[in-house]
Amino acid sequence: MATNTQLPAREPVPDPAAARPLAVHVIQAKAVLNRMRPFRQQNSAAVQIAEWSINPYRGCQHGCAYCYARRTHTDFDMNGAADFEREIFVKAGAAEILRQELRARRRGTWHAPVVIGTAVDPYQPVEGSWRVTRGILEELRIARAPVQIITKNTMVMRDADLLAEIARHNHCAVFISITTLDADLARRLEPATPPPLKRLAAVRTLVAHGVPAGVMLAPILPWLTDGRGELEALALAAHRHQAQWLSSGTLRLHPDVRPVFLAWLARERPDLVDRYTDWYRWTEAPAYYRERLHSRMATIRTALGLPDGPPAYEPQTVQMTLF
Ligand code: SF4
Repeated sequence: MATNTQLPAREPVPDPAAARPLAVHVIQAKAVLNRMRPFRQQNSAAVQIAEWSINPYRGCQHGCAYCYARRTHTDFDMNGAADFEREIFVKAGAAEILRQELRARRRGTWHAPVVIGTAVDPYQPVEGSWRVTRGILEELRIARAPVQIITKNTMVMRDADLLAEIARHNHCAVFISITTLDADLARRLEPATPPPLKRLAAVRTLVAHGVPAGVMLAPILPWLTDGRGELEALALAAHRHQAQWLSSGTLRLHPDVRPVFLAWLARERPDLVDRYTDWYRWTEAPAYYRERLHSRMATIRTALGLPDGPPAYEPQTVQMTLF
């Protein structure tokens, strides 16, 4: 089992992407609700993690070194490195398109929640001025659709009013992603995200406003954030901040993302490059490691009485009459 190694305190080595100016491109949204395909883990059956997803932007300013979504930029002739972080596409008119898509459903069963933020962070900084996510939430509220949100940004608190209303009528769950309590490491790994303690404070605030919220401790990074004490401390902090669940997952490195993460390691932790290269010949860390980590997290959750996710969603047939 890997042991956690404390990073020495020092200024982060400059990331080449940080020197690039931000370019915001406005594109007209054509479709907003994406039907999700089953997701296959190494040596396991395909699982359907959600039925529908919505990504209000393309690219993510947060620039997490390990981000699996970087590969989505390569579909548009851009790279998954600096382009993913600095060339951001705003889906203008997304709320109007979504309204039409929801009207077409009018009466139907939501078999699973609509997940916002599977390939971008819906509350990355550009949301502050473009408010595409807020417009989408308004439509989902009117349609009484079940909603889940994944974010690292405390800006989600801005929409606590809408999320609380969604929660009053249907399933609603906000996953706040936190990988470490070490603010210095977080700043290097996830350069444009709020510090971990502010994210924890956001969990507390959402819950106080009636929004079901929990912590997503993912991805857990071998040799960097997987120390037993560190995981326990983060879980305890989540519990103390009223997190209603604690989900977790180990780092996956898709071949398109691996070079970006290895370049980050070469800058920040060159001593770990060979270990990661050896472990991540495929997308997943070795099975024995994942199983041990899974069991460790289960023990931690049990000790704190925290479930591994929000209450199960019960499929509902919704009639939309408010258009
Ligand atoms: S916040 Fe999420 S989508 Fe954005 S870079 Fe980080 S991991 Fe990727």
